[in-house]
Amino acid sequence: MTARLIDGVALSKSLRAEIGARAAALAAVGRRPGLAVLLVGDDPASAVYVRNKVKACADHGLHSVLETHPATLTQAELLARIAALNADAGVHGILVQMPLPRHIDPKAVIAAIDPAKDVDGYSTLSAGELMTNQPGLRPCTPFGCMKLIESTGVPLRGRHAVVIGRSNTVGKPMALLLLQADATVTVCHSATPDLGVHTRQADIVVAAVGRRHTLRADMVRPGAVVVDVGINRDEQGKLCGDVDFAAVREALGPAGWITPVPGGVGPMTITMLLANTVQAAEAARAAAG
Ligand code: NAP
Repeated sequence: MTARLIDGVALSKSLRAEIGARAAALAAVGRRPGLAVLLVGDDPASAVYVRNKVKACADHGLHSVLETHPATLTQAELLARIAALNADAGVHGILVQMPLPRHIDPKAVIAAIDPAKDVDGYSTLSAGELMTNQPGLRPCTPFGCMKLIESTGVPLRGRHAVVIGRSNTVGKPMALLLLQADATVTVCHSATPDLGVHTRQADIVVAAVGRRHTLRADMVRPGAVVVDVGINRDEQGKLCGDVDFAAVREALGPAGWITPVPGGVGPMTITMLLANTVQAAEAARAAAG
């Protein structure tokens, strides 16, 4: 018997139904949630990502504005667009698709977004709110991973969670969210000499590296929950994660849980973007009185 699948598509569907209902309630009082998505340049992968985000908005009753700009757009011009969207009461979330062309500093761009509209959760203020246990907008991918873990019913309190990866957008916020849920958290990275020493003790493993087969069957213990954030390609060009999926699923046994790639974390990231946009719209409405 192999580990149970954590189905990100099914979970997304049920969460999106709730998000759609909240969006409809706001629209009914003239405050339809709005997301602005800015794309600079012609990176084909980025174009697909933004299209998916805009479509998800349309499918769930959110208003969206897609701005596409040539790669020659200057940083000053982009900052001016962000200032205009900050001032637009119909826009509750602003997302600038990364990566940006090299002449634009992503830190300056993120800092320019009104923190109340920072639906990617990447700003220093959002990171500080997470770090200090204050309510706020959480980075979408780790936020989605938490929902996936919660959906298993496995309690986090007192459990040992190991996060592989320490990026500002995935690994670090993931570790903080797990800590907030009372897990005991270990964070591993490229200088960790022996990953398996840590992951074999883990009740929960979140792999966010970007390297195939980072987590292998001999690195997990039966019954653990494994969440695979990685997006990679195998020799045949097929999408795969950081986890050696079939072998790890077997090793986890029937008491374990595992997310597939695709169909695990991926759909949850856009779902949490919608959730953050609706949350920002609800907060704007509350602030308006
Ligand atoms: P990143 O910024 O490149 O960070 C990767 C992390 O992995 C770094 O902290 C790095 O350590 C660590 N690492 C590298 N090699 C390692 C090794 N051999 N052992 C242990 N740790 C190692 O990447 P990211 O933005 O966090 O994304 C990680 C993966 O998730 C990528 O595949 C990305 O495409 C995917 N992703 C998926 C979604 C989704 O929606 N499904 C969203 C975001 C990201 P150092 O800090 O020491 O360099």
